[in-house]
Amino acid sequence: MLHQYNEHKYRHRRNKLVSGLKDKGITSGEVLSAIARIPRHEFVDTAFADRAYEDSALPIDMKQTISQPFTVAKQTEMLQLVPGEKVLEIGTGSGYQAAILLELGAEVYTVERHRLLYERAREILHRLDYRLMMKCGDGTEGWPAYAPYNGIVVTAGAPVVPEALVQQLSEGGRLVIPVGDETRQAMHRITREGDDFHEEIFEDYKFVPLIGRSGWNNPEADS
Ligand code: SAM
Repeated sequence: MLHQYNEHKYRHRRNKLVSGLKDKGITSGEVLSAIARIPRHEFVDTAFADRAYEDSALPIDMKQTISQPFTVAKQTEMLQLVPGEKVLEIGTGSGYQAAILLELGAEVYTVERHRLLYERAREILHRLDYRLMMKCGDGTEGWPAYAPYNGIVVTAGAPVVPEALVQQLSEGGRLVIPVGDETRQAMHRITREGDDFHEEIFEDYKFVPLIGRSGWNNPEADS
C-alpha cells in the first residue's frame, strides 16, 4: 500500500518536472518521455528521495552530484541520438544520465573515475534492468576499445576539449562537453565532418570538475 502510494506520488512529481522542463525549452519528445519514465529517486540517497523531482542538482557520494534534470535533458537533446547509435558517457556519477540514454535506444558505454560511484551506479542500473557497458577509470582518455562513437557526452567541466575524445567520434559523430574554468563552463558541441570538426558553443553551466590526464589535475579535488 505504502509502495503504491509512493509510486503514485513520484509519478505525479515526474510529470510536473517534465512540464517544467518543457516550459524551460526542452523540445525533444523522446527525452521528455524518458524523463517521465525513469525513477530519479532511485539514483539518489534516500535522504534526498523527496527532492528527486526538483529541477536541481543533488549531492551523491564522493562530493559529486547528480546533474540538474534540465542539464541532463539539454545535453541529451544536443547529442541528437537516433535509436541504435553508440554513445559514450564520461562521468557516470549516479547512473541517471546513462538510463536516459538507454531509454532513447542508444548502445551505452560509460566511464566513472570513482570506484564507489561506479559500483553504486552499476548496482542501481542492473536492479532497474538496464544493460550497458561500464568502466572505472579516467574518461579523459575515452574508451578506445569500443570507438568510434556516434555520440560522446561529458558530464563534468573540462579545461580543454580532450583530444582523445574528438578522435573517438565516428563520421558525423557529436561530442557534447562543458568547457571553461572551475566556476563556469560553456557547452560545446563538436561534430565530425570527414577530417574536419564543426564546433558550436552554447550557454553557460556549472559542473563539477573533470579530473584526469586531459582534465583538471587538482589533487585537492581528487577525493
Ligand atoms: N552523469 C551523472 C549523473 O547522471 O549522475 C552526473 C555526474 S557528475 C555531474 C560528474 C561525474 O564525473 C562525477 O561522478 C565525477 O566523479 C566524474 N568524473 C570527473 N572526472 C572524470 C574522469 N576523468 N573520468 C570519469 N569520470 C569523471
